[in-house]
Amino acid sequence: MQPRDLSEHVAYEAGRGIEEVARELGRDPDEFVKLASNENPHGPSPAAAVAIREAADGASSYPTAAHADLTDAVAERWDVASEQVWLANGGDGAIDYLSRATLEPGDGVLVPTPGFAYYGMSARFHHGGVEEYRLSREDDFVQTAETVLDAYDGERVVYLTSPHNPSGSTIPLADVAEVADGTGDDALVVVDEAYGEFADRESAVALIEGRDGFDAREDVAVLRTFSKVYGLAGIRLGYAIVPDAWADAYARVNTPFAASEIACRAGLAALGDDEHVERTVETAREAREYMREGIDADVWPSEGNFVLVDVGEATAVAEAMQERGVIVRDCTSFGLPGCIRITCGTEAETERAVETLNEVLADRDRQADRRGVTDA
Ligand SMILES: *Cc1c(COP(=O)(O)O)cnc(C)c1O
Repeated sequence: MQPRDLSEHVAYEAGRGIEEVARELGRDPDEFVKLASNENPHGPSPAAAVAIREAADGASSYPTAAHADLTDAVAERWDVASEQVWLANGGDGAIDYLSRATLEPGDGVLVPTPGFAYYGMSARFHHGGVEEYRLSREDDFVQTAETVLDAYDGERVVYLTSPHNPSGSTIPLADVAEVADGTGDDALVVVDEAYGEFADRESAVALIEGRDGFDAREDVAVLRTFSKVYGLAGIRLGYAIVPDAWADAYARVNTPFAASEIACRAGLAALGDDEHVERTVETAREAREYMREGIDADVWPSEGNFVLVDVGEATAVAEAMQERGVIVRDCTSFGLPGCIRITCGTEAETERAVETLNEVLADRDRQADRRGVTDA
């Protein structure tokens, strides 16, 4: 007996953790900072940390009330019906629910390249095919309806990422509406707003609900997560907001209790902790400006909690930075072998990242000069 043919499936390459890197290099984990996975440098919301501890005693029960309470709180936050909120095990889990609810075997999904790997992974798990539209580096990863529609060829699901990972670019809501208009009647446009809180922009929930001058529509869904701004990546909690018309599909596609008691209690507490969110967003804004000004290489403008930097050879630079204790994301696996992505850290972490990167770049240039002299 063997698994089914998985040759088309690609493994997810996560940003590397401090423990893992320190062990491999035989060093003390305290020497490292990790700015590789867009995690919250302030940690979880303190209120959520308390809720997690308090939820420990209830861990023997299945999450029913907590799930309902969080669903209602999220619905209230967005002013939508509770049935429209599909809680899941991370944003990734919500992507799976959307795949389950939409894809017949052989259906296609259209995803950005470079882009978030899990869209395609999930589609393949659900026997779907994956097509790509290109966000081009030459055009600074600009996202327009045209870029997407030029590549559209009848796919069932179209993914937009706004702010986009790894570039930080966004797509205007008018363009999202144009994509939804220009795709088939049975096509769903999923707007992944994992970094939505860091951008000064309206959510695409406005398109689902018909707000801000848009007509209400039944072909857009929005994805959100507690992993980024709320600092809860470790508990795995995210959700989709779906159109009212097909909201009750959730009962048929969700994995029972996939959003755990502890996750739901933490999520509820985090939702109410505006101070932590504001502090996190403020830190990210300052950090990305600081990096754009301070790094001796091209840095794309970003609306997320990270920046993409053009360093020439990503793997060599990421390794050299890691040697010096700063772990960043080598974007080779995103199809950008010249770029690294640096997460916005605390002020001290961000300063260290900029200083370290500039040292690495200066060393490299000095070595290249010396080689130039010897060659001559
Ligand atoms: C982090 C991220 C997600 C969701 O991650 P989860 O931890 O599963 O919630 C979704 N989309 C993008 C683009 C992301 O970067």
